Amino acid sequence: MRDLAALDEAARLVVTGRAGATDQQAIVIGAGLGGILTAAAFARTGWSVTVLERDVLPTSAQYRRGVPQDRQAHILLHRGLQAIDGLLPGFRAELLARDAVPFDSGRMPWLSEHGWLSNDQPSWEVVSATRPLMDAVARDLLRRLPGITIRDGLRVHGLESVPGAWRVLADSADGPEVSVSAPVVVDASGRSSRLSHWLPQLRQPEAQLVDARVGYAGQLHVARGEPPLQTGLAIIGRLPDGASGLALPVEQGRWMISAAGMGDFRPPRDLAGYRGFFAGLRDPAIVDLLHVLEPAGEITVHRQTSNRRFAWGRHADWPAGLLVLGDALCSLDPIYGQGITVAAMQAERLHDALSAGRPVDRRLQRQLLAVTELPWSIATGNDLRYPSCPATPSASQQLSAAFTSRLGQLAATGDLRATKAFSDVYHLMAPPTAFLRPSLLAAAARPLPTRRLPRPTVLDQLSSSRPEPPPEAPAGA
Ligand SMILES: Cc1cc2nc3c(=O)[nH]c(=O)nc-3n(C[C@H](O)[C@H](O)[C@H](O)COP(=O)(O)OP(=O)(O)OC[C@H]3O[C@@H](n4cnc5c(N)ncnc54)[C@H](O)[C@@H]3O)c2cc1C
Repeated sequence: MRDLAALDEAARLVVTGRAGATDQQAIVIGAGLGGILTAAAFARTGWSVTVLERDVLPTSAQYRRGVPQDRQAHILLHRGLQAIDGLLPGFRAELLARDAVPFDSGRMPWLSEHGWLSNDQPSWEVVSATRPLMDAVARDLLRRLPGITIRDGLRVHGLESVPGAWRVLADSADGPEVSVSAPVVVDASGRSSRLSHWLPQLRQPEAQLVDARVGYAGQLHVARGEPPLQTGLAIIGRLPDGASGLALPVEQGRWMISAAGMGDFRPPRDLAGYRGFFAGLRDPAIVDLLHVLEPAGEITVHRQTSNRRFAWGRHADWPAGLLVLGDALCSLDPIYGQGITVAAMQAERLHDALSAGRPVDRRLQRQLLAVTELPWSIATGNDLRYPSCPATPSASQQLSAAFTSRLGQLAATGDLRATKAFSDVYHLMAPPTAFLRPSLLAAAARPLPTRRLPRPTVLDQLSSSRPEPPPEAPAGA
């Protein structure tokens, strides 16, 4: 990542030398992570920013209505951690100070579609926390930056272009109508963005939609004694149901245990169904884990998970001073854990543009869209294989899926080059060309070894906690 501190200084010079700081005003709609990081990008380049948020924001890490997905497991990919820490220095340290759980993703037991992956090679760090904690830490760091105003409890309901500026109209539950104006406005209002209603004159590109009908069910748990594992645990689904389980240690000795499945195999909300879902997975590790945990919250489900993207900025008449990013621009099937990282990379792109004194215009909007290309192709390329997804993959998508599957099989034989390439691309730390290294291509072209990696021994300690089966009734009883 580029040296943001150096760029910040350069930006301040550009701002004061060119137009004077008073011109540098922006409004950000939405204080989810996308909005917070966008505001950080502006503030760190000398702009004044007003963030308008519909919810009344909590002062600590709490669930809130405007981010209904915050009750589900959120993994922050390493690229996202890196980008957020650049925009909000101290983010990682503060997460750790508030009890988030760091682990090496290379040590995480991971049952892939083709078998267990190696868990004895170091890889990218994950700092695991609940979504409310990530938001709270980011919000607190944002508030310390100069030029930030957060106005919460205000629902934006209109956006107008007035000479030289945008006027944003908002209302609150009991207060008067509010109007705020600035030359730049960013829509970071998430999947429920109303941009096309606010600006009906905008030529809206047709939505790209790939919906594998993924459903989540999640519940927080707390460990009864010592932490049962020092790392997360993933059981990845395969065709046709995509039935998966993810267990993440999070702050305060808790565990977020999420089930995910596709179409008719989406996990239910009731306790028996939720537990039964894990019992049906390909490996009992999560069932074993649940034996040493106690529920610490309700089971919640979430089913708004389609991949949906609007190519905002495609049309030449895109207005100056308007940007859309985060889920408002492109929301992705969350199974791949990419959404926050994409929003963070977009905020990073915005920061770089402002630092270089480039205008907020269509070109920048297209750059924000370009950030979604790789994550979009990873998520949709995989989802299109599932029968619950009504769309049909193109020939090139089928070819790419077949090649990725071959590399996946290679990784499950213990090939560390393939495992590393998957980890690098999954964490968005490398482009997919990482799959095309000559030695990897050569290994994939040879007949694959028949051996598969064994189940990680770290899971044995969980199996030992399995309750004894009830004694069999004596014959004839
Ligand atoms: C089940 C599930 C699991 C997920 N797991 C992961 C994961 O593991 N890793 C990952 O990186 N991503 C994950 N995601 C995706 C991630 O949650 C989103 O990509 C991320 O929250 C996008 O941030 P955002 O700021 O664009 O939108 P949001 O976080 O949705 O925030 C939008 C904000 O805008 C506000 N708002 C909306 N309308 C208005 C209005 N009219 N006026 C004012 N404010 C408004 C909302 O109240 C909210 O605060 C998951 C998503 C789901 C659904």
